[in-house]
Amino acid sequence: MVVKEKTRLISSHPIGTIAFEDCSIPETQLVGKEGEGLKIAFATLDMLRCTVGAAAVGLAQRAFEEALCYSQKRHQFGRSLAHFQGIQWKLADMATELEAARLLVYQAAWMNDHGHEGFKEKASMAKLFATEAAQRIVDQALQIHGGVGLISGTPVEQLYRDVRALRIYEGSSEIQRLIIARSLIGRNGKRKVHNPLIRW
Ligand SMILES: Cc1cc2nc3c(=O)[nH]c(=O)nc-3n(C[C@H](O)[C@H](O)[C@H](O)COP(=O)(O)OP(=O)(O)OC[C@H]3O[C@@H](n4cnc5c(N)ncnc54)[C@H](O)[C@@H]3O)c2cc1C
Repeated sequence: MVVKEKTRLISSHPIGTIAFEDCSIPETQLVGKEGEGLKIAFATLDMLRCTVGAAAVGLAQRAFEEALCYSQKRHQFGRSLAHFQGIQWKLADMATELEAARLLVYQAAWMNDHGHEGFKEKASMAKLFATEAAQRIVDQALQIHGGVGLISGTPVEQLYRDVRALRIYEGSSEIQRLIIARSLIGRNGKRKVHNPLIRW
């Protein structure tokens, strides 16, 4: 395999154009049976969505800690930023969203571990909520840092760039919503008799 060209993005994600030259794959090294590749890839995606949710929680946790610490250190108008109610409300919202995202990711991971039938839609919910929440949390963390948050190389500036791709890869937020909606109303739009949210 040859890497033809590395794709430069706003953050360091190892993607690019690759080419296979003089390659052959012995049958013994096939993943699954011939012709079943797409099915296997889709099943893997469900699991990976959970891990993207977990990555989002990690990024958001770091952003929250940076913001909490900075708000206590930085003084304006004779007081720490953390003293101001406007900043306290931001921190409270960030902590609450972070906790909700973490629990949703844990729940999806638990369902995967236990082979639960509702895992697919729960993984989509975890990915959707955790990545969207992480984006909001990182954005607020940068806001709390003021101009310092925009300086290249600072942790929040890097988190701001790192977090953006998560809402796009492994299925964008819009696609996660389609998956969740289909699990609620079925592909043909007919409402299911049982509520899929309370199957676990
Ligand atoms: C860092 C990174 C790593 C990646 N890694 C991989 C990888 O390992 N393997 C891999 O196969 N791919 C990978 N991708 C590709 C990634 O999965 C796609 O970029 C992603 O699925 C979106 O597809 P697209 O870029 O073609 O956007 P499009 O499909 O063109 O979508 C553009 C916009 O339209 C919206 N949209 C599309 N269809 C609908 C719809 N039906 N309803 C509503 N809105 C819709 C999308 O949500 C998006 O906002 C990676 C991408 C990035 C950025």
